[in-house]
Amino acid sequence: MSAAHHIVVHAHGGPDALSYENFTPGEPGPGEVRVAIEAIGVNYIDTYHRTGLYPIALPGGLGVEAAGTIEAVGPDVANWSPGDRVALLIETRGTYATHIVVRADLLFALPDSVSAEVAAAALLKGITAWMLVERCAKVTPGAIALVHAAAGGVGSLLVPWLKHAGAIVIAHAGTPEKAAIAKANGADYALSVEFDALAGVVRDVTNGHGADVVYDGVGASSWSASLAAIARRGLLVTYGNASGPVPPLSPLELLRAGSIFLTRPSMFHYVDTPESRTTAGARLFAMIEQGAIHADIGQRFALADAGDAHRALESRATRGSTILIP
Ligand code: NDP
Repeated sequence: MSAAHHIVVHAHGGPDALSYENFTPGEPGPGEVRVAIEAIGVNYIDTYHRTGLYPIALPGGLGVEAAGTIEAVGPDVANWSPGDRVALLIETRGTYATHIVVRADLLFALPDSVSAEVAAAALLKGITAWMLVERCAKVTPGAIALVHAAAGGVGSLLVPWLKHAGAIVIAHAGTPEKAAIAKANGADYALSVEFDALAGVVRDVTNGHGADVVYDGVGASSWSASLAAIARRGLLVTYGNASGPVPPLSPLELLRAGSIFLTRPSMFHYVDTPESRTTAGARLFAMIEQGAIHADIGQRFALADAGDAHRALESRATRGSTILIP
């Protein structure tokens, strides 16, 4: 085995809390495999684990997805062999590493046409898009969808997935350049207005109707705009906190916004069985292979520079997905 490194968080904090260290990967136990990692997906949730917004046991590893090649297989693993190309999703963290020992049932087989980099860029974020379009909202043709951070990691996959489902997509992003990316990804309207002005523009372009479904991964800064932009009896999906958590709310706010529905999903709760993981993975890779969505790898960083990746993500300086290369 080549030299092994991983990122460790010893105390919650800023990007400097990420420590790049040597380690000795373990042997896979029953039902486990060891994967040599080739690419790691950076997700906003990694920053929440680092800061302690979502507390983790310390010291602890970071990262919830990666792709690579199986190099060792433990006892009682029937369907996998050394040399198999795989991607993996783990709630328990530790993919910011050159190697990982992981439960075999958390693996996704990579189609030949999907590289490790593309898988690392698209697995978690693409399954999130699947969840948002096909599970949380069950979007039907003609539905009007508003997407915040539309040129981001999830946003760049969500916009074309919504178009594939026949939605009318209003994309919102922080700069005109990012709005142009969302437009190129198929958005019908691509806006970069201030949050205060957003609901007015959404009402204008929908003849007063508003958005049937609002996808809000920004949280604190976008919350009021989301409530003001939603159609009567619409669905508000709050799925992230990039600008900070949504403030506490009273159910009466849902009444005032037009008898709206509210959900706060985690992707991990939608892929919590072998069957649901198989369904989601198959759907994602089919969407990639048919060209309906594509992973926009906007940034690559060395694993040792993971802190720089976090700085870029948290300063809104990224587009599409960010990956780390061990
Ligand atoms: P992104 O690539 O979308 O990066 C976050 C984006 O949020 C920024 O680029 C920026 O876009 C926007 N943003 C607006 N205000 C701020 C702010 N104050 N600070 C930082 N960013 C801000 O990240 P991801 O694709 O990894 O994740 C997007 C969201 O989805 C996150 O909140 C994440 O937690 C959530 N998520 C949730 C999942 C779930 O299962 N619930 C699964 C995956 C992701 P702009 O400049 O265009 O406004």
